[in-house]
Amino acid sequence: MALAEKDIKEIEELFEKLGSMTLEEQRAKAPEMLKKLSPEQIEFIKQQQGGGQCPFCGIAKGEIPAKKVYEDSNFIAVLDINPGNPGHVIFLPKEHIAVLPQLSDDLTAKAFVLVKKLSGAVFDATNAQGVNILQNNGAVAGQTVPHLHIHIIPRFDDDKVRIEWDPLKLTEEQFEEMQKRISEKTKDFGKKVYDVSGNLVEEKENKKEEKKPEKKEDAPRIRRRRA
Ligand code: 5GP
Ligand code: ZN
Repeated sequence: MALAEKDIKEIEELFEKLGSMTLEEQRAKAPEMLKKLSPEQIEFIKQQQGGGQCPFCGIAKGEIPAKKVYEDSNFIAVLDINPGNPGHVIFLPKEHIAVLPQLSDDLTAKAFVLVKKLSGAVFDATNAQGVNILQNNGAVAGQTVPHLHIHIIPRFDDDKVRIEWDPLKLTEEQFEEMQKRISEKTKDFGKKVYDVSGNLVEEKENKKEEKKPEKKEDAPRIRRRRA
């Protein structure tokens, strides 16, 4: 996409300013600063940041061949080229979005319904005994393609898929500290709507009564390791 010299200069200045800030400051100020850019400038940045060469954008546009199993105007699902098991599907939004928190609430709701249906389709088609829904955000979490995607992996007894971690022993204080810190972040759920860039686009009045926490604190135990 060709941008006017002055539009590119504006982008460079913005990134220079962001570069001189701390991470905290960037987080606080970036949404406001990005709002000043035109849609063409935003698109230009996305292309610069890898949207242009992204393999999943290529798949979404039909420029990179893939074994498609589902498509609509927002999403596409294809067979993973390095499957954990035959029938391993990756489901992705066509728009170049890096990680899940950037997906709008509306598309997230649609995506989850489709992933549910796809997991049933994969389960039936492969005669699987189970299915994993897996979604990695960030390289440290195992994300190798920086375009949001959700894995749907059919599972079979004695297959070679491994999803596991060594359970940590936390103190009561450590659990409580985490509960406090995460609850602080979730208290506005339902009241605020953000767009894909993390900008606040709507603030709803909170008419619903806050749900009281359940008395029982322990979540049902899940089996974390395969024997
Ligand atoms: P991640 O590790 O990022 O969660 O998963 C990326 C997945 O995308 C990997 O399982 C990898 O095999 C798959 N993958 C990477 N490039 C391509 C490609 O060009 N086509 C298809 N179909 N899958 C890909
Ligand atoms: Zn992409």
